[in-house]
Amino acid sequence: MIVSIGEVLIDFIALQEGKLKDVKSFEKHPGGAPANVAVGLSRLGVESALVSKVGDDPFGDFLLERLRDEGVKTYVSRDAEKHTGVVFVQLIGAKPEFILYDGVAYFNLKPGDVETAPLENAEAVHFGTVLFAREPSRSTLFRILEELKEKVPLSYDVNIRPDLWRGREEKMLRDVERALRLADIVKLGDGELAYLKNNGINIEDFDFKLLAVTLGEKGSELISEGAKVHIPAYRVEPVDTTGAGDAFTAALLAGLHYSNLLGEDSIDEEQLRKIGRFANLVAALSTTLRGAWSVPKMEEIVLMKEVRELYQRSRR
Ligand code: ATP
Repeated sequence: MIVSIGEVLIDFIALQEGKLKDVKSFEKHPGGAPANVAVGLSRLGVESALVSKVGDDPFGDFLLERLRDEGVKTYVSRDAEKHTGVVFVQLIGAKPEFILYDGVAYFNLKPGDVETAPLENAEAVHFGTVLFAREPSRSTLFRILEELKEKVPLSYDVNIRPDLWRGREEKMLRDVERALRLADIVKLGDGELAYLKNNGINIEDFDFKLLAVTLGEKGSELISEGAKVHIPAYRVEPVDTTGAGDAFTAALLAGLHYSNLLGEDSIDEEQLRKIGRFANLVAALSTTLRGAWSVPKMEEIVLMKEVRELYQRSRR
């Protein structure tokens, strides 16, 4: 089982074009990057779970119901004090404008909310940066990761949301650096790579088992030890690229799972190409559907070349 830790929330997506200031109505969708990855994994046929916290309120009920419908095992505690997280989102061109609410249940994740057995027995544990933005979730997550280091492969999607660290950017950079030191598998966008570099964090200074850099419509780059490959994007007509990065991450982890490579220290070029082609395929297909939970189900894509390549190896 692959376990994701982090935010699960309601995305309120604007129904009209234009700035958030002027929008009149919103549609309710489940979201939160680590939850999106957990759902993507489950759709790709990999047993998956989510560790998080929601409020004891109707939005919490909704998220738990939707996660369970998707086959995700939920280690999600209910907060008697804080409400379920919400975000208001508008896509202006390719750029989302959003308001992320503070003081919500996932930022209130405490050590006592987290069962250790599912994490210690996981095939991999996946996390992002958002929980580091507030306490007590920041200390809880670092504590878990430090306990799991060297025992369970740790996967990190950098996913920087600078809005959450206004005036505390230096603190965010130090936390990202600390998380990069803990991670075995790292995924980040090319924009994030440049942002980190401009702020003195060079990704080459870290020792990952696998680094994946996503390049939007240009595809992705996968790097492991001496091997480095560039995989062009799978060609589609995108409708909505929200969650393409999370779909890519889910497929990257699923690809490693199906190739029996999650615990390996290095991955050769041929394997990197197969996993990269699979991840690009899944991410591209996710852009042809709306919303963040848009990963195709394994049975819908199992006959495609990029998927058969992976299966051949895992069935050998
Ligand atoms: P986010 O979803 O948060 O923007 P991200 O920056 O990692 O995350 P992208 O780099 O935009 O996401 O996309 C992730 C992957 O999705 C790419 O590596 C690519 O494989 C696929 N993808 C994105 N946009 C397109 C596109 N227009 N056509 C085909 N594939 C795409």
